[in-house]
Amino acid sequence: MKVLVINAGSSSLKYQLLNMENEAVMASGLVERIGEKQGVLTHKKVNGTGEEKTVIEQPIADHKVGMHLVIDLITDPVKGVIANTSEIDAIGHRVVQGGEAFKTSIRIDESVKQAIRDNNPLAPLHNPANLMGIEVAEDLFPGTPNVAVFDTEFHQTMPAKAFLYALPYEYYTDLRIRRYGFHGTSHKYVAHKAAAVLGKKPEDVNVITVHLGNGCSMAAVKNGKCVDTSMGMTPLAGVMMGTRSGDFDPAIISYLVKHKGVKVEDLDDVFNKKSGLKGICGFNDMRDIHAKADAGDDKAKLAVDMFAYRVKKYIGAYAAVLGTVDIVAFTAGIGENDDVVRQEICQDLTGLGIEFDAERNKGRFSSPQPIHKEGSRVQVWVIPTNEELQIAQDTMDTLK
Ligand code: ADP
Repeated sequence: MKVLVINAGSSSLKYQLLNMENEAVMASGLVERIGEKQGVLTHKKVNGTGEEKTVIEQPIADHKVGMHLVIDLITDPVKGVIANTSEIDAIGHRVVQGGEAFKTSIRIDESVKQAIRDNNPLAPLHNPANLMGIEVAEDLFPGTPNVAVFDTEFHQTMPAKAFLYALPYEYYTDLRIRRYGFHGTSHKYVAHKAAAVLGKKPEDVNVITVHLGNGCSMAAVKNGKCVDTSMGMTPLAGVMMGTRSGDFDPAIISYLVKHKGVKVEDLDDVFNKKSGLKGICGFNDMRDIHAKADAGDDKAKLAVDMFAYRVKKYIGAYAAVLGTVDIVAFTAGIGENDDVVRQEICQDLTGLGIEFDAERNKGRFSSPQPIHKEGSRVQVWVIPTNEELQIAQDTMDTLK
């Protein structure tokens, strides 16, 4: 079975074609700057020895034009990997916000599209773009089933005590204000893989998943089900991120507006784009921040310390939530590659049963790797995430 995974953004479209017989990526790519003067399509064909890259630069008026270019490439006799699009058995779409309507992935029809549209106010930057990707696929792959896989669905098992905010209850019932959580496909993939590295079933394991990329989130996963997660109604809450603040005292908002002349309409931008690592030290890429810190930049060092400290606090909180923890799993750009940050997070957690091994931790890992000492009560692993594979698997499971 061949599954095409599509992740459509407002001006971009990421795709991956997987052969699910062996879970191998056949081709992948990214269409960027859709609607701008000059668009770019970067396509990679996977062959026996590596990848063959093709870059096309030309105006790409809309997502449909971009998807046409992708189809031309994946079916090209030289650069392509299939003879024609009828070889694609299903299309899996990443959809950011499923709200409470979607607790699992679902085959897309008109009513599903309407329900996704109903969630637009909760994810105004993402859901309309995701829907655009769906409509283009319906148009260009007639007859091929489309499945929506939601970033929020893995977190729908949270109990009310975890997903409700301590605000007037009508805010939840009337305005749908609650914690939804995001990065769900990554947390699900990593939690399942974490069980697998322990040689157990997901339902027999308690995991703390730590997704540290540009966006960062954590989840407490009890017996295979998410019971709490750090992101909230939007992906702004929780731990500190590249440019997002994570948790802070909400009274700061009215203080800024009432006493410091900050305009309400500017606040989203401040908290989402000018805060986090960037807000503290001016940089949001962890590699740049380490380079600055090594060169003696105190704010860069402080940013790393703050970042690690906040993740450490959530590990403590989730250890309490879970009661017993079998495994802590690090993933995504920082989680997989940054041994300095992992060490700062995990050191001195012996009270929680974590015996961290600084030697084993050294390096960047592209496959699961234990980073705890032999005999540690709680295991700690780096487990590279694979959101596309999870979406493809969920797509297949939904159609079964
Ligand atoms: P996204 O959330 O956009 O998918 P990624 O998972 O790719 O992001 O993570 C991006 C983050 O990973 C950046 O902060 C980047 O600096 C960090 N990162 C990538 N490679 C390394 C590395 N070798 N060392 C430290 N950090 C890294």
